[in-house]
Amino acid sequence: MKLYNTLTRKIEEFIPYEEGKVKMYTCGPTVYHYAHIGNIRSYIGHDILDKTLRYLGYEVTRAMNITDVGHLTSDSDSGEDKMEVARKREHKTSMEIADFYTKAFFKDLDKLHCRTPEIVSPATENIDMYIKIIEKLIKDGYAYLSGGNVYFDISKLDDYYVLTNHKEDQMVVGVREGVEEDDNKRNQADFALWFTTSKFENHELQWDSPWGKGYPGWHIECSGISIKYLGEHLDIHGGGVDNIFPHHTNEIAQSEAYLGHKWCNYWFHNEHLLDETGKMSKSRGEFLTVSLLEEKGYDPLAYRFMVLSSHYRKQLVFTYEALEQFQSTLNKLRNKINNIKKDGEIEENKYNEYNEKFKEELSNDLNTSNALTVLYDLLKDTEVNGNTKLRLVTDFDKVLSLDLIKEDEKLDKDLEKYILAKIEERNEAKKNKDYLLADSIRNELLEKNVMIKDTREGTTYEIIK
Ligand code: AMP
Ligand code: ZN
Repeated sequence: MKLYNTLTRKIEEFIPYEEGKVKMYTCGPTVYHYAHIGNIRSYIGHDILDKTLRYLGYEVTRAMNITDVGHLTSDSDSGEDKMEVARKREHKTSMEIADFYTKAFFKDLDKLHCRTPEIVSPATENIDMYIKIIEKLIKDGYAYLSGGNVYFDISKLDDYYVLTNHKEDQMVVGVREGVEEDDNKRNQADFALWFTTSKFENHELQWDSPWGKGYPGWHIECSGISIKYLGEHLDIHGGGVDNIFPHHTNEIAQSEAYLGHKWCNYWFHNEHLLDETGKMSKSRGEFLTVSLLEEKGYDPLAYRFMVLSSHYRKQLVFTYEALEQFQSTLNKLRNKINNIKKDGEIEENKYNEYNEKFKEELSNDLNTSNALTVLYDLLKDTEVNGNTKLRLVTDFDKVLSLDLIKEDEKLDKDLEKYILAKIEERNEAKKNKDYLLADSIRNELLEKNVMIKDTREGTTYEIIK
């Protein structure tokens, strides 16, 4: 698998820390509002990466945070906590806001067929971990207390800007919009790890800490959650390109200072979705949400299809005209697939040929649009029989997740799941020398027209018509 790595600015061969296993972290949403379809584009990108790795045979463990505290409006250390903004806007508690928008977020992901990571953890549930990290950073001289807040001292690192292309002078505070100077900082590029209420008295959520009552900065939550649940070595970490600086830059600084070694090997960033006016925003113009697309009569998967048709490292401009086109192409594609005649035995060589091509395209830095071309080529190929095509489409859709196969085909998938579970049960019985049970499972399947075959490569099956 080849993947572009923001850290080295190169497409590299992906080699996980532990063979065959991938630990992956996705920066989760700030749950102060609905996600816009730009945010969703990033989560579709991560979903494709996650599913591709699984399709290639890796065992993936993925974690994602839910930001329910500490993300200030500037993305840096000035401005107000976005959750506080929402709390005042909606006259609710932070936890009510977080609960409501977290549910809305997962509903959106579900509609886009994005699988939920194994680990999902709200920032507010890991305060102990942040305190542990910050205490060590202070002890080791990487962090300091000033004006009631704890800051990370970036001058203690040789290469704080390792993830960005920028020079230090381009990054100074004041150059970036909306970031105010903070007299408490030794260096204006230092960043907050912990805020005490000495600066933000009205913050609703506060926890006791060795530095007084307060709340964590935004960046520390991702380091804390990632290290707590995925361990000291992370394979892939990502988000949208806006996360590169300051968020991910700060995550690397504090994590590596805390761990004393390199933390994450591959950094994966999605380019933005733009609207016709430029950057997508929750406050400007039409607030584009998944529900809005549905209200206008679109299938959310038409949007997923649109996202997959372009490369994740290219900006994509959203227009309703384009979505309309993708909706109509998706409908045609589904129709075509559902009219395929179920005939012939699976042709192994054809299956392998197309499956390999599909994997190759995805392994080439997730070239989803070329992977879709493999699907179109397959559908046009008159040399491939119906059952082979349907099997391939079913398998491709494990990654594409576009509902390409109709409901009754899904029944077949359920049957396959059932058969595989039975085979597993039978193998277990054979291992335990319980041949009576093994035979009864074989007969049970035979009654359902499923013939089990034991081969040197393992157990396979055939549906007898
Ligand atoms: P937030 O909820 O603001 O923390 O953002 C959630 C995710 O969406 C982050 O990974 C952002 O980098 C990403 N994101 C924000 N805006 C866009 C956009 N216009 N297009 C793609 N991804 C975005
Ligand atoms: Zn993060």
